[in-house]
Amino acid sequence: MPHSDDRFSTLAIHSGQGADPATGATVVPIYATSTYTQAAPGIHRGFEYSRTGNPTRTALQECLAALEGAEACAAFSSGLAATSATLSAHLKPGDEVVAAADLYGGTYRLLERVFKPWGLVTRYADDASPAALAQLVGAKTRLLWVETPTNPLLRIIDIAAVAEVAHRAGALLVVDNTFASPYLQQPLRLGADLVVHSTTKYLGGHSDVVGGAVAGRRTLMEPIYFHQNAVGAVPGPFDAWLTLRGIKTLAVRMERHSANAEHLAAWLKLHDSVERVYYPGLPEHSGHEIARRQMRSFGGMISVRVRGGRTAALRFLTSTRLFSLAESLGGVESLISHPATMTHASIPPDVRAQRGIDDGLVRLSVGIEDVADLQADLAAALAAAAHRFNETNKAA
Ligand SMILES: *Cc1c(COP(=O)(O)O)cnc(C)c1O
Repeated sequence: MPHSDDRFSTLAIHSGQGADPATGATVVPIYATSTYTQAAPGIHRGFEYSRTGNPTRTALQECLAALEGAEACAAFSSGLAATSATLSAHLKPGDEVVAAADLYGGTYRLLERVFKPWGLVTRYADDASPAALAQLVGAKTRLLWVETPTNPLLRIIDIAAVAEVAHRAGALLVVDNTFASPYLQQPLRLGADLVVHSTTKYLGGHSDVVGGAVAGRRTLMEPIYFHQNAVGAVPGPFDAWLTLRGIKTLAVRMERHSANAEHLAAWLKLHDSVERVYYPGLPEHSGHEIARRQMRSFGGMISVRVRGGRTAALRFLTSTRLFSLAESLGGVESLISHPATMTHASIPPDVRAQRGIDDGLVRLSVGIEDVADLQADLAAALAAAAHRFNETNKAA
């Protein structure tokens, strides 16, 4: 069994994952059972019914808690289910939330179309600085919600500074740590109160399972456990097992994701067909210094604005051979997407434009393939996009 001072990969491989008490199985079994036989009414081994608790899910929760440096963790059937449970467990109608505007589209939709009718007011800060967030905090603010790096513009938010803003107002800071993963960044150690994940992304890591989790100190997790059981958006044992299997290799995958992305960002920056590269690992990125402080490395996500706007962007992302045109991120395979029409289509066009998500923006989830092959793939697709752009201009 791991010690609490063991390092990241040791915790990832061993936390919550001792030999199975019933059989000695070295790998946590998939407990495919909905119920548990009791010796006498109420006399059982800690499990009664699998919405309430399942050993495979417990292993996943213990492992994630260890990786985030949390006292406790609750796993959910999706990242949005984890977000929803966090909000409903800690807020009531009439409360206010302050969020950084550059937000996962589904989180924005949840806040505006589910929680707003329920009575929650969310104020969005267009610039992600602690001062801009502080300005929106009022007497009814109970919770601050940030992602960092942000999606899709990869802005960096200073977690320690925003934690101070939240705590001065008596509010909680929740950080959606999906883009960084606990390997690159541990928000609780920087002062955040709760950390939320879409485990669908880097934690699962193989684009084969949807899931979510929330972690934090026990007092804040109790009402979330209540919601996990009372509302019931729990992951099945097979989903929990797949996620746990993915987590074992998180550190080695993140090292490679980051190295590949750093290489590609530096190359894209010099490419004629690229107007702008958004990557926190570039020294000129506005959040670079903060990212160096709060992250181990800069992650696998890059956004680029290609020359030629929407037409060139669409041509670029339909011309790759290895990068699959797909939503989502964080898997071993490289993906390419168009935020304006895909991940962020649920945000109204005027709001999108105001936030800088223009039609020329393309988001890359850099996988762990050989970087030379990825670079050649992007080079060919950019050439195809530029060719079409020049043809169109000549015709006009
Ligand atoms: C994907 C994602 C979510 C939502 O997670 P699901 O597992 O798709 O429900 C939330 N936040 C971020 C940053 C994401 O990328």
